[in-house]
Amino acid sequence: MRIICLCGEEFSLNTDFLYYRGHLIADQDYELVLEAIDTLLAEAYRIGQLDIDPKQRQAQFDYLYQQVPDTIQKRFIYQCPHCGRLHINDANYKSHIYKPENDQQSSDILRSIHRNDWKGKLKGNWARLHDAVWYGYLAWDTKQSRGWKIFDTWEELKSEYHRLLEDLKDKDMLATAQLQKDKDVIHTYQRDEG
Ligand SMILES: [Zn+2]
Repeated sequence: MRIICLCGEEFSLNTDFLYYRGHLIADQDYELVLEAIDTLLAEAYRIGQLDIDPKQRQAQFDYLYQQVPDTIQKRFIYQCPHCGRLHINDANYKSHIYKPENDQQSSDILRSIHRNDWKGKLKGNWARLHDAVWYGYLAWDTKQSRGWKIFDTWEELKSEYHRLLEDLKDKDMLATAQLQKDKDVIHTYQRDEG
């Protein structure tokens, strides 16, 4: 999937962690998101599952996702990296385009608050597409490289995940990494902030 801006620039929407994409939550919807987090935490405390077990964390994350309507989660705002136009989705996913007043205005206002210190992420997933058909992908986005790769076998995916992980760790470009196989979390990495 890609957006073609009015200036002619084409930008891809295929990976996560895009520096030109933001998530828009209307002020009138914000409380609903906080309530979903609050409900999730209350439930996790109640059943004593507020721990660091990756499987539980994934289940909690999925649960949180279900609590917040798609119309809130998938409301995006994009900024064209070339001309700075903002492409903003309304509640019906229709895009509205706004142009900066002049050339001096920033074309990367949607970047992370960590700006140049932002550390990237790596994700690998092996999942069932349908029936007996499986596929895997790796997606990574760091300051220096970003990409997306499809795999036909689990072994290839796993070995490329670990190769890329070590490479990005060596360059200190990675904040987190996660490898999943059929919804099970097989491996995680979290950068030591100390
Ligand atoms: Zn543009």
